[in-house]
Amino acid sequence: MGGPSGTFITVEESHRLLAYEDLATGGSFIVFNNSRSIFQIVKNFTDFFAHESCGFCTPCRVGTSLLQKQLDKIVLGHGSAGDVVELERIAGLLRQYSHCGLGQTAANPVLTTLERYPELYQQQLKKISYEPGFDLDAALQVARQMAGRNDAAAHLQQVEE
Ligand code: SF4
Repeated sequence: MGGPSGTFITVEESHRLLAYEDLATGGSFIVFNNSRSIFQIVKNFTDFFAHESCGFCTPCRVGTSLLQKQLDKIVLGHGSAGDVVELERIAGLLRQYSHCGLGQTAANPVLTTLERYPELYQQQLKKISYEPGFDLDAALQVARQMAGRNDAAAHLQQVEE
């Protein structure tokens, strides 16, 4: 409801009112059937806000980019439970500290789907304590070459819990 800066609702909420007192739409709403990926929709909306951010204020300029990266990490299957907490934290900062309505609503796709479809996010998570957002082991390849080592102890591993 209300486009990318609005609210996701489920079919169980179809009794709700299109009104400023309940679901303010500004005149637009989009209906998705169950053949669509919710993550793909959320990602498209989040990418849109990162692209449209004018860059004037740091919470939005940096926050929309961080939100994109954190969402990608989870959607691509590299997230753990702490990454969802971090996703919510970034979204909250964006909403609270952005200068204008664009930044203040940019996290709505993430926040409203997290609220309604928490199991979707949970299904994407690995049962590990943490996985970095970049390949730290690959980044250490130069150091291994310089040290003349390539044994198991010279590699980093993430252990499944
Ligand atoms: S919140 Fe508004 S002013 Fe701030 S960077 Fe985003 S678009 Fe620009």
